[in-house]
Amino acid sequence: MNEQDIKYLEHKSLKDVPGFKAAIQLRLKDGRPVFLGLRDDALSVFTDEGRQYFFDLEGRPWRLSTLNYTLHRGLSHYGLRLRKRPKERGGGYDRERLSDEELAEFCKELWQAGRDILDAIENTHPENIRFTKPGYDTAVGEIKPVIEKITKYSPEQIRQERERFESVYQPIPVLPPDHYRAFVLQVTEGCSFNTCTFCSLYRGIPFRVCSVEEFDEHIKNALAFHGEALRQRSTIFLGQANAISVPQNRLVELMKRIPEQVILSPAEERPVKPKWTRGKRLHFTGIGAFIDGFTGLKKTADDYRELWELGLDRVYLGVESGSEEILEWIKKPAQPDQMLETIARLKEAGVATDIILLVGIGGKEYERKHVEASIKFIEESPLTNGDRVYLSEVVEYSDAPYYQRMEHDRIPRLTEVEMKKQLEVFWDTVKKRKLQPVPYRIDPFVY
Ligand code: SF4
Repeated sequence: MNEQDIKYLEHKSLKDVPGFKAAIQLRLKDGRPVFLGLRDDALSVFTDEGRQYFFDLEGRPWRLSTLNYTLHRGLSHYGLRLRKRPKERGGGYDRERLSDEELAEFCKELWQAGRDILDAIENTHPENIRFTKPGYDTAVGEIKPVIEKITKYSPEQIRQERERFESVYQPIPVLPPDHYRAFVLQVTEGCSFNTCTFCSLYRGIPFRVCSVEEFDEHIKNALAFHGEALRQRSTIFLGQANAISVPQNRLVELMKRIPEQVILSPAEERPVKPKWTRGKRLHFTGIGAFIDGFTGLKKTADDYRELWELGLDRVYLGVESGSEEILEWIKKPAQPDQMLETIARLKEAGVATDIILLVGIGGKEYERKHVEASIKFIEESPLTNGDRVYLSEVVEYSDAPYYQRMEHDRIPRLTEVEMKKQLEVFWDTVKKRKLQPVPYRIDPFVY
């Protein structure tokens, strides 16, 4: 190994990374070395100052990583800063939204890096290039077109991406964590209930189901917008809030339009393990969607089987609490027995089902009822091996009625220790049922 190779670990050079199908190491005009590695789904640029840039295959800035933090830009042209949370604070990442100015700075840095690299590729004699994989011509032939795309995203151009995104998509305020990198397709707008007091995600968006013609157009526009960057996405997620609430005939008609434009894994091959770098453009492993226990009962197991055959392989049900009284109090339009029956029908149809429980909902006043009823719900639910229970700390949005109700009724919140204890009780119950507990935080998220 040559000491001039940029390393990614103390004893490993970047050129040892097997995921790069093409790679080059060269020097910029000012002498700084950079390593360019092209994977099936992204281009990575490493500097010897510890800054790493990542671009999608359309050349759009995607991530900037340093030792202390990572900046992430979503397709919607909003940004996040992620910082590692210490183990004693639960691990994972603290996520905060970037201001428009911070996002602009980050995009500008990556755009400038693209310009400097293009200049170096065009003006460096192949003999002065440190390392290429596989050979110079092939590596440059693969990497240069992506760099040329990067240089087109000037500060002015990248700002316009938000408008482009909004011409294709309604807002995407939340996704289940295993679908953060899904290809989202929206068959509905808004939520058909909008009653849950703790949720303000879709307030002000009237509920509407797309027509078949609109959905065809939406798929076409979404494909064009993602472009080559679609290689980063291996699943499809049907939005917005509770897409499965669409009446069966209409939903079937809409879902049948999807394989007209993309390739879905055949039903008999499922479950397919998602791979982030499938490298097969337009090939998806399956379809996920949110569901609710009330409209969920309007479909039979045969209906769910029909949706499964059309690609639906996992749904997400916001149970929130196993207590009927709490569900009424938070105006959730479903009762525990309705949700249990919905799960039973989904399981009969072979659809993987994840549920979400809210840790700390109802504060001290409902603590005992919430714990007892939710344990009972988990124990009685027909969930099966491989299904997950997301344990999500209740978040109080000041504009949502839940917060106002807690304040008005002077209900004490659980302390940090009490929250932790409740989470542990649920965690143990889920484990005993041989299901998968997953900690879940409704943190800032960008699509
Ligand atoms: S929690 Fe779900 S069902 Fe309730 S208002 Fe929000 S999106 Fe709609």
